[in-house]
Amino acid sequence: MKLAQRVGTLTPSTTLAITAKAKEMKAEGYDVIGLGAGEPDFNTPKHIIDAAIQSMEAGLTKYTPAGGLPALKKEVAAKLKRDQGLEYAANEIIVTSGAKHALYTLFQVLLDEGDEVIIPIPYWVSYPEQVKLAGGTPVFIEGIEANEFKITVDQLKAAISEKTKAVIINSPSNPTGMVYTKEELKALGEVCLEYGVLIVSDEIYEKLMYGGHEHVSIAEISPELKEQTIVINGVSKSHSMTGWRIGYAAGNSQVIKAMTDLASHSTSNPTSNAQYATIAAYSGSQEPVEEMRKAFEQRLDIIHQKLVEIPGITCLKPQGAFYLFPNVKEAATATGCKDVDEFVERLLTEEQVAVVPGSGFGAPDNIRLSYATSLDLLESAVNRMKNFIETNQ
Ligand code: PLP
Repeated sequence: MKLAQRVGTLTPSTTLAITAKAKEMKAEGYDVIGLGAGEPDFNTPKHIIDAAIQSMEAGLTKYTPAGGLPALKKEVAAKLKRDQGLEYAANEIIVTSGAKHALYTLFQVLLDEGDEVIIPIPYWVSYPEQVKLAGGTPVFIEGIEANEFKITVDQLKAAISEKTKAVIINSPSNPTGMVYTKEELKALGEVCLEYGVLIVSDEIYEKLMYGGHEHVSIAEISPELKEQTIVINGVSKSHSMTGWRIGYAAGNSQVIKAMTDLASHSTSNPTSNAQYATIAAYSGSQEPVEEMRKAFEQRLDIIHQKLVEIPGITCLKPQGAFYLFPNVKEAATATGCKDVDEFVERLLTEEQVAVVPGSGFGAPDNIRLSYATSLDLLESAVNRMKNFIETNQ
């Protein structure tokens, strides 16, 4: 079958691929520890589940407006006001089937053939693919490890061309866990204002912050930056609701209208009961969110310490999200692997530890470990890594 050219270069998500492989090995009886998943290991809080059940029992199982239930948009607006001090009207918000689909829809309505989107490396795997699917061209800037993998004003300026439409800022970052400070965002934002570059601010890990670091949305820095930014967020990571598929975009009403029109021809609407659940997520107690954050932070502190004690591994201490992004180049070389991809493969086959190779994020010397799993399993996984390195030197 001859497929469309636009899917010719499409590669499946590395993260989902490694998770699938780990699950397959588990089903075959292997004692696999999967650190590939990008989802919290906690159950969705009960009051959220109850709200979904109640909505189903009340017969609220029909189509909703394409851009989301008005009552949910109200809660999203209240959340943005409460957490970021930002005010958005209903026509400046679209509820989508996860943050991923908010981004997908955004690039579809934003990009013409050849329009450029600046993507900092290391990047979340879907950004380049989504940009390409919309006919755009990803332009990469390398966030270097010495600068906590963050891009600088000079790098941004150098990457901007006449074709630049947007830049993606993902803070806290998947995969690095690094967080931009308010000053850094302000400086980058000024460049975007000067050159008329739209900012796509992916804030999906906003609630998972550690070590006293603070999340700042670039949109809250000034009214001009708010105008220049489309905020992307959702409940997948904050409320442990990955499977419910609810996210949102907030920003310029013209962009949101185009996204809503496109959604009306693609998804029709995000699942109605998941939307009712999300109303409860935003209007109810935020205590479970904080409890999950605390649990992540406790794991992070222990596991990061253990990891950096392994010879050949260096790792910045993440400030947010739930990933560690160690540089394992030296360990890979010491164990006779030709590159980090091979190190990852051998770790899975020889020690049954599944991690994601950094090459999928544009950083081939690193690996991504998710600590969204129990401390016991995390400790065993790190011990197995240590064992792999020691026995193969
Ligand atoms: N943005 C980043 C940086 C992510 O890591 C993810 C999920 O892994 C998403 C967006 C998508 O989130 P959702 O599950 O709401 O589609």
